[in-house]
Amino acid sequence: MLKALRGTKDILPDDIGMWQVVEAFARDIFSIYGYKEIRTPIIEDASLFIRSIGDATDIVRKEMYIFTDRGGRNIALRPEATASVVRAYLENSMAQNQDLTKLFYIGPMFRSERPQKGRQRQFYQLGVEAIGSDNPLLDVETIVLAARFLQKLGLRDFKVNLNSLGCEKDKQAIIKKYRDIIKPYLGSLCAECGERSKKNVLRVFDCKNEKCAEAVKGIKFDNLLCADCAEHFESVKKGLKNSGVDFIVEPKMVRGLDYYTKTVFEISSPDLGAKDAICAGGRYNNLIRDMGGKATPAIGFAFGMERLILAGKDKISMSAPSIAVFMAIADKALEYDAFKMMSLFRDNGLSCEMDREGRSLKSQMRKAQKLNARFTVILGEEEFRRDKVILKDMNSGEQKEAGMDEVLKEII
Ligand code: ATP
Ligand code: MG
Repeated sequence: MLKALRGTKDILPDDIGMWQVVEAFARDIFSIYGYKEIRTPIIEDASLFIRSIGDATDIVRKEMYIFTDRGGRNIALRPEATASVVRAYLENSMAQNQDLTKLFYIGPMFRSERPQKGRQRQFYQLGVEAIGSDNPLLDVETIVLAARFLQKLGLRDFKVNLNSLGCEKDKQAIIKKYRDIIKPYLGSLCAECGERSKKNVLRVFDCKNEKCAEAVKGIKFDNLLCADCAEHFESVKKGLKNSGVDFIVEPKMVRGLDYYTKTVFEISSPDLGAKDAICAGGRYNNLIRDMGGKATPAIGFAFGMERLILAGKDKISMSAPSIAVFMAIADKALEYDAFKMMSLFRDNGLSCEMDREGRSLKSQMRKAQKLNARFTVILGEEEFRRDKVILKDMNSGEQKEAGMDEVLKEII
């Protein structure tokens, strides 16, 4: 029997409710914060991601699904959406006359990683991008939005880690300094980190190998930010404190994508164990310029939805699925009339189901209960001849006769 590919999962009807609740909450709060949805293609020219995410990153080197299509083009399944959103922003001249463009997305991403709990090869992200301002209050707003979204979902004990990577110049200074600092440690790092230390030393601090993390644990990170970036970072911290969002400054947090500048952050949940990051984001003030647009500061984040749902499993409130009406048929001859009535209910916005297997009335009533029907309409021959049906309120258990033409009104 064929099976779903390793690292991919079906989201089944029994589980979809949680996904829909999370998406509905997200759409709600994103709209309150002024974001509009964008849907970009799942396939893109591979160079879009190689250039933006960086060719020394794990995502590009090891995780990206790349294939050559029938026209010989180099195509990637998107491993993340920021690069795609920026491409769409530029290609469609979305800046036009507005100073800030706020976009959100929900959709699948693809990374060829070793599957484990909270780590899949196809996973979903929901995220936002605010393009057009370097104001530190926008950083604050973005992090507050992520925090409020979690609180709205009922998740409260999350942790916000914060850092600043500075501007282009600061980043270069940081990289230069740590290339030297890392030298004595090279012997205790994995082979890849040896490579990383040459190509982009910051990647060493993002290595998932525990031995590497242990080896560099003792390295103290100095503040190498220029005056402007230091002030920006102070303003972000001040704004977060004013908004009541707790955070921890984590100087070693460099994030796994090259395009980040200035503010970066990660949100983790204690309910998740090893793979505890549910959200990550930051500023990418040079990406738009690097992709051929005019220099435009921007910031965004992405939530991993599988992890969000794992963390929220017992916290996100869900009402049991139900239907409005179940049509029970006492006589098979009335099947067509029942079907007609069911169509009338549905046309009027009521969810409705009926028996299709000629089961006994008793077993149909059990089915109505199982479907959590609010009402059951029973069609019996004797009543039908008098243009009546029996309407049963499944909450109170009361039942009464109702005229065929009244029953819809009664239910509504
Ligand atoms: P990790 O450290 O877990 O590999 P990352 O730094 O690669 O995460 P980002 O690229 O920042 O993750 O993506 C943002 C969020 O997307 C992560 O915090 C996580 O919740 C989710 N995510 C990333 N990769 C996966 C995956 N393979 N499976 C499920 N969720 C993922
Ligand atoms: Mg990763």
